[in-house]
Amino acid sequence: MITIKDLKKIPGLIIKKNEPMNKYTTYGIGGQAKFFVIPESKQSLLDLISYLNKNKLKYFILGSGSNLLVNDKGFDGVVVSIKRSLETIKIENSKLYVECGAMLGTIVKECIKNNLSGIENLVGVPGTLGGALVMNAGAWGGEISDKLQSVEIIDNQNELKILQRKDIDFSYRLSSFNSNEVLISATFNLEKKDKEQIEKKYQLAREGRKSSQPTNVRSAGSVFKNPPGNSAGKLIELCGLKGYRIGGAIISEKHANFFINEKDSSASDMMHLIRYAQKEVFKKFNIKLETEIKFLGFE
Ligand SMILES: Cc1cc2nc3c(=O)[nH]c(=O)nc-3n(C[C@H](O)[C@H](O)[C@H](O)COP(=O)(O)OP(=O)(O)OC[C@H]3O[C@@H](n4cnc5c(N)ncnc54)[C@H](O)[C@@H]3O)c2cc1C
Repeated sequence: MITIKDLKKIPGLIIKKNEPMNKYTTYGIGGQAKFFVIPESKQSLLDLISYLNKNKLKYFILGSGSNLLVNDKGFDGVVVSIKRSLETIKIENSKLYVECGAMLGTIVKECIKNNLSGIENLVGVPGTLGGALVMNAGAWGGEISDKLQSVEIIDNQNELKILQRKDIDFSYRLSSFNSNEVLISATFNLEKKDKEQIEKKYQLAREGRKSSQPTNVRSAGSVFKNPPGNSAGKLIELCGLKGYRIGGAIISEKHANFFINEKDSSASDMMHLIRYAQKEVFKKFNIKLETEIKFLGFE
């Protein structure tokens, strides 16, 4: 049984007990994490992960919780938050080095300041670099893996290791990282380009997002992956489900693949809405929609 006293033996950790997870997810949903730990440095993160692995303790790595539904019952383990603790961004010529707690929005802005092109289409994805790499986040024709050169991880032997791009498989919203690997930093080979050209692409992506997706609402972006050659949002819309509600959770009128916590939705409301949409799409089109979002505390 883990105690705060055990965790306090590891230097450089901010430790919270019974921390409500709704504070840390864009859905604003979720019960308590038994322990919520923020390592203040790479070394403290390494020490923590090594301790958790050696003692076979259950843990979950949290980025910015923008692709995550946490159960109302919470999570009976340790949530390790890497946002704000691993935030370094370094640029040298056209090479970008970033730690995995940095937010994509900040990284994109830094790149534009330095006339670097390659990830500006990801503007508006409210995730950390770590979450983006695990999810192979993509938008407006580009994915985070496009210009990736290498990723530094803590592997299951508690060792820091560099994986080259060729050793990692990426496909649509999927990567081959193991669930017990912790992503620490990554390098990218970007392209020097004219600032105006980069800003034009950036604005196109920003405006495209604004016109097609609900903004200023509590969502986790697209709930489902698009089935091959089809659009999950279109299929849900064709089932007449725009505006469909269960409790405080509702399917967006603007984009049917965005499910919104409109009014104090529970995880249970959201889960029922997800299952209902899945069932209706299967009934009408014989297509099984696969979720893109991740779940914590449901097992
Ligand atoms: C309004 C809105 C718009 C969105 N638009 C897009 C879009 O256009 N394209 C897109 O692809 N996504 C989009 N998303 C979804 C989401 O922002 C992305 O999937 C993002 O990359 C998730 O990053 P995160 O840091 O929030 O990850 P989290 O939600 O915190 O975690 C996601 C997964 O990554 C794992 N993880 C996170 N960091 C690490 C790490 N360092 N090491 C190991 N595992 C880690 C977690 O354990 C979890 O399994 C959108 C979400 C919202 C709310």
